[in-house]
Amino acid sequence: MWRAAAVRGLRAGVAGTPRSASAAAGLQLRQRLESELEDIRGAGTWKNERIIASRQGPHLRLADGGAGILNFCANNYLGLSSHPEVIRAAVEALEKFGAGLSSVRFICGTQSIHKDLEEKIARFHQREDAILYASCFDANAGIFEALLTPEDAVLSDELNHASIIDGIRLCKANKYRYKHMDMQDLEAKLQDAQKHRLRLVATDGAFSMDGDIAPLREICQLAQKYDALVFIDECHATGFLGPNGRGTDELLGVMDKVTIINSTLGKALGGAAGGYTTGPKPLIDLLRQRSRPYLFSNSLPPAVVGCAAKALDLLMESNAIAQSMAAKTQRFRSMMTAAGFTISGKDHPICPVMLGDARLAAVMAEDMLNRGIYVIGFSYPVVPKGKARIRVQISAVHSDEDIDRCVEAFTEVGRKHGALR
Ligand code: PLP
Repeated sequence: MWRAAAVRGLRAGVAGTPRSASAAAGLQLRQRLESELEDIRGAGTWKNERIIASRQGPHLRLADGGAGILNFCANNYLGLSSHPEVIRAAVEALEKFGAGLSSVRFICGTQSIHKDLEEKIARFHQREDAILYASCFDANAGIFEALLTPEDAVLSDELNHASIIDGIRLCKANKYRYKHMDMQDLEAKLQDAQKHRLRLVATDGAFSMDGDIAPLREICQLAQKYDALVFIDECHATGFLGPNGRGTDELLGVMDKVTIINSTLGKALGGAAGGYTTGPKPLIDLLRQRSRPYLFSNSLPPAVVGCAAKALDLLMESNAIAQSMAAKTQRFRSMMTAAGFTISGKDHPICPVMLGDARLAAVMAEDMLNRGIYVIGFSYPVVPKGKARIRVQISAVHSDEDIDRCVEAFTEVGRKHGALR
């Protein structure tokens, strides 16, 4: 319709009037966008979205008819996205508290369930307080600008998630980027940053492309030596890393040394949506006053709050689900390594099958789907050039048979394409 109106405007020969000028601008924009889209297709980096016609889970039905597809690419680490108790809690919250708040938190959008969930998150992480956001992307976008000024410094791992990078861009602090998990480089940058009032080291707890875990013990030691604070993004750790699933800080024994945690409710904790910051109370109080994605965006819908609260209850009752996921991760990693594949990272349910070549990763992922296994290939610019991979993600709700089927299919496809060691 937009295009037709633009063309009509031009044909009507009313050039020079504000209406035709905007029609011409519309047409020019369309041409520019189409050319940009063509460039993306040409570069081979076009992202297709597969349409799922069932619930999230280990077995999927695709809208184009594919049924019984084994799903190995969701962040549904604990299998709680379709857990019956999580769904029931969402329905109950929906019925009792309505569809949504039609408001931001500070105007008319705070319900008792929002406060209860914040208290539960803080308790789960053993912190003083917590604040909810519509997503962890928002939590990351909102923290640095609210906390840091031009007198301060932030030191960020070069492979941090895009939302941390964007959040840091928004703040006026002095910015340092250290080499991925390189403690010598971090130390050098910390020395340089001594001239600033406050130093904040920011890192993903677990990195989503490699399944590797930040050396938090060493980071905290350096932070102590150079009087810095530590921030971690725990999206790929909360709920399942560490003896009680508290995350990377618990796994590495530094829960009392990390000052700020941002994480998501959209992965292991029910998978619906939402994010949060947890840490010292004055920080959370300040975020409620200053953090723009919190101040100027709607409250989390009650059903989403219900899901996350139930997921946390389940995790605080028992760590059996997390242990089951760890055992399945171990099964997949050891079977794939024995079959001749290189799996990056260690002990994490993100299991990147390293292939190197971008085309090989794409073709193998397609062949896997033809065998009923849904996995995704990643190549440049999402990962460095020459480090293309298929990322497999293990969930507690995969059965041993599911894992074995996946390894079998990988072995067949890898053999066909000469990808085995
Ligand atoms: N941080 C990391 C490390 C992530 O992987 C993601 C999601 O992909 C986010 C932040 C954003 O989380 P959310 O989906 O809650 O916005």
